[in-house]
Amino acid sequence: MSVKTDIPSEVDLLVAGAGPAGMAAALVASLEGLDVLLCEKSDQVGGTGATSAGTLWIPGNSQSRAAGFSDSAEQADRYLSALIGDGTNRDLRNAYLRTGPAAIDYLCARSDVQFLPCGKHPDYRSNMPGAALAGRAIVPEPFDGRLLDSDFRRIRPPVAEFMLLGGMMVGKADISRLIGRYESLGNFVYSAKLLFRYLADRLKYERGTRLMMGNALIARLFYSLRKRKVPILFDSSIVELMGNRDGVKGAQMEINGRQVAVKARKGVVLATGGYAHNKRLREAFMPRPVPTHSMSCEGNTGDGIELGKKLGASLAPEQSTSGLWTPVSIAQRSDGTKGLFPHLVLDRAKPGVIAVNSTGRRFVNEAASYHDFVLAMFECNKTIQSIPAWLICDSDCLRRYGLGVVYPGHRNPAKFLDNGYLVSSQVLEALAGKIGVDGGQLCSTVTRYNAFAKTGIDIDFGKGETELNRFNGDASHKPNPCIGPLVTSPFYALAVWPADIAVSTGLATDADARVLGNDGTPIPGLYACGNDMASVMAGSYPGPGTTLGPAIVFAYRAAMHAKGLAL
Ligand SMILES: Cc1cc2nc3c(=O)[nH]c(=O)nc-3n(C[C@H](O)[C@H](O)[C@H](O)COP(=O)(O)OP(=O)(O)OC[C@H]3O[C@@H](n4cnc5c(N)ncnc54)[C@H](O)[C@@H]3O)c2cc1C
Repeated sequence: MSVKTDIPSEVDLLVAGAGPAGMAAALVASLEGLDVLLCEKSDQVGGTGATSAGTLWIPGNSQSRAAGFSDSAEQADRYLSALIGDGTNRDLRNAYLRTGPAAIDYLCARSDVQFLPCGKHPDYRSNMPGAALAGRAIVPEPFDGRLLDSDFRRIRPPVAEFMLLGGMMVGKADISRLIGRYESLGNFVYSAKLLFRYLADRLKYERGTRLMMGNALIARLFYSLRKRKVPILFDSSIVELMGNRDGVKGAQMEINGRQVAVKARKGVVLATGGYAHNKRLREAFMPRPVPTHSMSCEGNTGDGIELGKKLGASLAPEQSTSGLWTPVSIAQRSDGTKGLFPHLVLDRAKPGVIAVNSTGRRFVNEAASYHDFVLAMFECNKTIQSIPAWLICDSDCLRRYGLGVVYPGHRNPAKFLDNGYLVSSQVLEALAGKIGVDGGQLCSTVTRYNAFAKTGIDIDFGKGETELNRFNGDASHKPNPCIGPLVTSPFYALAVWPADIAVSTGLATDADARVLGNDGTPIPGLYACGNDMASVMAGSYPGPGTTLGPAIVFAYRAAMHAKGLAL
């Protein structure tokens, strides 16, 4: 079966952008019997979503309830009130919390988009009222890419640094078994099976077909769209909206240099992924100095936002850093290109890792969420250079836990010294000299941190105090799973920079994802979801799945509204 590419002149709903938001909107609209056209700028589906961890934050979801976790919309609302304020985005929040579980159940019941509960996965401010330690996060079920046959090439691949052997995806659960492959027969057999599957895949495909995380989400959406024969136009960008402030009637698309008009009876959904690669909008909304790195898909140049603005749409939120952030290190790839490695959960919370700024002082709880870590970089950088910051560890820590693209158990760190990824020295003071940090101060910082390792209490930044910290630490390390001494030479340093994984400023919408004009009323026939829509979290990052959760839920609401079904 292949994807149909005829260009209809009129449809019910035109959806621009085949990331998770656009694909979900197109799928729900099709399931509701609408005649849908999905257009995508690149030659692959998935956008940033394909490279993501694929986690959705859906408080009260039924997958977790069935697994024994209890939660409620009220509890989650208490948490959001503590985090972003009681009245912020009230209507959208109510709609999100009320419809979230129903939207997921709808997809599970009516398509191949299936989810699993994550179980324990603490909210990112796990010590705030209403925060949950488990049950709010769900992930897509892994997917067998072979089911797509030759259309497998249409799935945007994950970040190269997240694949083993040049193309094998592994999930969090695989990592410990692969690292411990010689420690038990079970682990050995498990690892061998993964390897053989991968080798077999490579006889036919460019990469492994055992898809996990964001890649599984996208493949499942794509598979479901294909089954319903929803046409997807590749290499086609939405460039103009037809209509005006009083109503959108369709859009112009550019396809291979040709302009094509498509009328849309029920409206147009903008899901073009936000403005991450639009320099002007970065300068308008982001903190100073404007971060240069972005993990967003390169086609996300703010097209949806610009088109909405042209029609008099308003933007929100006003108070935020306008991004959802992660620290990244810059890896040198074997083909000479550079890759961004996001330091999400694997290394910063581990016992022997500290982060220092240009003075050699710690400035943050290293085990904070990736978003909060970068907010601290921005804040500290206002007075002391903290961009880049440096992650520092000793050789025991590097071997045991890894650092960035140096995976745990790696036997040849020299390779990463040679290509400039890591900096190393036998003595801390000399390491400081190599990275331009005050040597005496770095030694004092490490001495102080090593003392915290004995007491288990970080009196400066509270590393290891919250459930989130400990979740990403090493449970077997005592007394604090997140604090261990840096003592064994050589010592290592790695530069980290802020990068957005999503933007939070976008088109203001109502609870049905209808784009609002400057007067606060909806522009008929114009919807926005995903990162084209202003973040319902107002730029905060409550927990795992903060962007994909709303992307799917508001896509569902947009499609239902277009169908005329009030939720
Ligand atoms: C490493 C990493 C991990 C992440 N993990 C998570 C996670 O676990 N949970 C979570 O909630 N979020 C996560 N995110 C963020 C998440 O991936 C994004 O917020 C999400 O993908 C946004 O979805 P979207 O559909 O709005 O945009 P995208 O996924 O970026 O898709 C936008 C699509 O629109 C297309 N497009 C652009 N312009 C046009 C145009 N003019 N016409 C037609 N098409 C156009 C693009 O080519 C692209 O395919 C992660 C991000 C990264 C980088």
